[in-house]
Amino acid sequence: MCRTYNGSDINAEEGTNPQTKDGRGNICPVTIIMPTLAMEADRDVDKFMELLDKKIGEAKDMLIERYNYICSQSPESAKFMYENGLMLGYDGKTVESAMKHGTLALGQIGLAETLQILIGKDHTTPEGMELAKRIEQLFKDRCAEFKKKYKLNIGVYYTPAENLCYTAMKKFKAQYGEIENVSDRDYFTNSIHVPVWKKVSPFEKIDIESQLTGYSNAGCITYVELDSGVQNNLEALEELVNYAMDKDIPYFALNVPNDTCLDCGYTDEFNDECPMCHSEHIQQLRRVTG
Ligand SMILES: [Zn+2]
Repeated sequence: MCRTYNGSDINAEEGTNPQTKDGRGNICPVTIIMPTLAMEADRDVDKFMELLDKKIGEAKDMLIERYNYICSQSPESAKFMYENGLMLGYDGKTVESAMKHGTLALGQIGLAETLQILIGKDHTTPEGMELAKRIEQLFKDRCAEFKKKYKLNIGVYYTPAENLCYTAMKKFKAQYGEIENVSDRDYFTNSIHVPVWKKVSPFEKIDIESQLTGYSNAGCITYVELDSGVQNNLEALEELVNYAMDKDIPYFALNVPNDTCLDCGYTDEFNDECPMCHSEHIQQLRRVTG
């Protein structure tokens, strides 16, 4: 996944840099659907924290089970990968010799909706942010403990959840129905993101999310959606990028609309129909990342 981040390698060979990124990656993410836990806790914050703690332990068990299964495979299963120096640490014998340098990503989805369920407001408010930090601190503390105890790179992951956003919501709705600002849409909010329907400026979005990205050491992303006006305003783009860097955002992306008429070549933001030749043969781009 593009947002994968590999923190310090607890299994780095002596004399090598534990921050090495090449040849390492996320091995297998597991994602905790937090809004469901908030409902199971009857909207009680302390009960939720207890349940979450238990769930984080279960997620760790699942990660280790998958890790062991992967390590039990023969290197022959991906010969090219192991024999061409693509995997850090491979000893020519076991998959584990390479896998132990990767990251076991312990992920989460729907912080915004979870906070709505628990206290009726999300982390765009000071009270919501306070509880958000408590939740993320628990993830961070537990992952640090597991990393030491199991000598594996278990880390906090802000899951992209491209499909899970929808499938998790479908199941949630079937069980709990429609709840205002929680399940009155088709998807849960990605990881710790500010909900896309919240009216905040790009700078405010960076201010809010940058307070939480530091808890994650297995990957996260912050992106902002811009309108077409920015196309001719490179200074504004540069200001945004600098602002995100100053706030220590590890991975920042900008979404800029770019519609191209495939018949006459006209480019702007116009969605379904070309304003010049009225063609409906349109290519739409929204994401510039990296
Ligand atoms: Zn056209």
